[in-house]
Amino acid sequence: MNDIKLALLGSQGAGKSAVLVRFLTRRFIGEYASNANSLYHKRMSIDGRQLNLEVFDPCSQGSGARCIMEEPVDWADGFVVVYNISDRTSFIDAEDILRQIREARVDNCKGEVDVPVCLLGNKRDLCHARQVSEDEGRCLARGSRCHFQEVSAAESYQDIAGLFTQLIRQVMEH
Ligand code: GDP
Repeated sequence: MNDIKLALLGSQGAGKSAVLVRFLTRRFIGEYASNANSLYHKRMSIDGRQLNLEVFDPCSQGSGARCIMEEPVDWADGFVVVYNISDRTSFIDAEDILRQIREARVDNCKGEVDVPVCLLGNKRDLCHARQVSEDEGRCLARGSRCHFQEVSAAESYQDIAGLFTQLIRQVMEH
């Protein structure tokens, strides 16, 4: 049985809990009371392999720089970084978080150690209020060597499930 540990990072209100609840339950919960760090467990099977998934959803109290420094960046095997496409500040936070993940994973002997990361531009349904273009998201992901997709926790399960599955596969192969 594989144990896979993922952490969700992003500024408050980006939709981390909504994305995670969508993945775990297939449902969208509009107001999810998350005022504490939460650790979720799920047993699942991917490509015929059984695994124990643990996902850490920190209670972020502000913007990216502060939130990641306080979280167990060494604990996770992979990261989902979430921003809100209708909030540029959350995108700037995501950029900062991606940089900090890279810096935290530098090995003194081996240099930078790649860790599987996925960047999610959430709230795609709010495209009328868009502040971050899809190209900017793609470009940030390319520079950080991570996978990217815009999603809507409010509207769709498939995209989110696909991204988590892909990230878990990457972690298993890592
Ligand atoms: P967190 O602080 O990053 O965990 O954010 P939450 O998951 O608590 O979501 C913050 C707010 O954004 C809540 O009011 C959610 O209902 C809302 N929200 C989350 N995802 C979406 C989405 O895809 N579209 C829309 N329109 N609202 C969303």
